[in-house]
Amino acid sequence: MKLKCPICGKTYDEPVQRCECGEPVEFEAFNAEPYLGKTVWERFWDFWPIEPAMELSLGEGDTPLVKSKLGKELGVRLYLKNETTNPTWSFKDRGTFLAVSYAVKAGYKAIGTVSTGNMAASVAAYATRAGLKAKILVSESTSGEKLKAVSVYGADVIRVRGDYGRLYFESLELGEKLGIYFINSDNPFRVEGYKGIAFEITEELTPDYVLIPTSSGGLFRGIAKGFIELKESGLIDKLPTLIAVQAEGCSPVCRAFREEKERIERFENPKTIAKAIANPYPPSGNAVLKLLHEFGWKCTAVSDEEILEAQRELAGEGLFVQPASATGIAALKKLMEMEEIKEGAKVVSILTGSGLKALSHVEGGKVRECSLESLEECLR
Ligand SMILES: *Cc1c(COP(=O)(O)O)cnc(C)c1O
Repeated sequence: MKLKCPICGKTYDEPVQRCECGEPVEFEAFNAEPYLGKTVWERFWDFWPIEPAMELSLGEGDTPLVKSKLGKELGVRLYLKNETTNPTWSFKDRGTFLAVSYAVKAGYKAIGTVSTGNMAASVAAYATRAGLKAKILVSESTSGEKLKAVSVYGADVIRVRGDYGRLYFESLELGEKLGIYFINSDNPFRVEGYKGIAFEITEELTPDYVLIPTSSGGLFRGIAKGFIELKESGLIDKLPTLIAVQAEGCSPVCRAFREEKERIERFENPKTIAKAIANPYPPSGNAVLKLLHEFGWKCTAVSDEEILEAQRELAGEGLFVQPASATGIAALKKLMEMEEIKEGAKVVSILTGSGLKALSHVEGGKVRECSLESLEECLR
């Protein structure tokens, strides 16, 4: 290991933090053989409905699959698919990229979405990347703070008064009329983009279970489709058991599943801290329900308390995710207790988005005060 100061050129054999001259240090340039640096889009080229416009890519996908220490405690082999490393810090970028590829090819000059958080930021970012106008429709209650991460990309952000559920459909209609391509939560190109998660997992291991935080259902459908296509192509022998995870305070899919209904019903008075999965009337709810029935998959709902505990546990091993993204771990614990997941199983949980997106209800840890004079004492 050799470190070098980029300013004065001094080298170090031990891992110092800074150079004696006060400047930073960096590892010397590695001299190694390169591999073909192909992205998930290129490796699975024939699985996409259109050619991904690689020049518009921001580096979405190809996210880390991290072995979790929590698995040992629970008695399973647990892996975390860390989607927080995407360009706007959630898996939404995978779908947005593919949908924008389409919008550009189709000659649209503007794209849009209906969202309160992650999808809004994602669409705004890829719009400006592609030189398109972005129309972002948000609900009346969305905080100004949250919208900074959207408007920073130069998008036209519009707070809409009225029923948020209807906005999804109105936007598609008006979009068609006005030539704005709306890339909402379960847009077909968006869902296709999510298949990459299944592809990448399969390249590394063959899971028995995959835990998927579920709101509109776009993500669940995309991952399901990915695995199904791999099976039909003869690339895997058997499908994993997919588990849709919802927050108890807004669980229209799990409720319909439990009651053996074929259609979901609007969830009245939704209330959960997991805002990113709080769609009371998910536009792909019925499609998810059908998949659950068809393949004998599951739906599990978890409480806010269980979600916050799982969020703390993930932070405890170095991964800070938003509450919605911690639901998979909360569900895993529940399913282990109920013996619905067997000991020793290989489990993947999708960490859908970064904790930095939702700081308002994070407890955080202790912070101590210290003067520079008493620093030595404080450090002891
Ligand atoms: C969008 C989102 C989900 C749910 O995805 P759907 O496609 O709406 O089911 C889960 N977690 C996070 C962080 C999200 O942003």
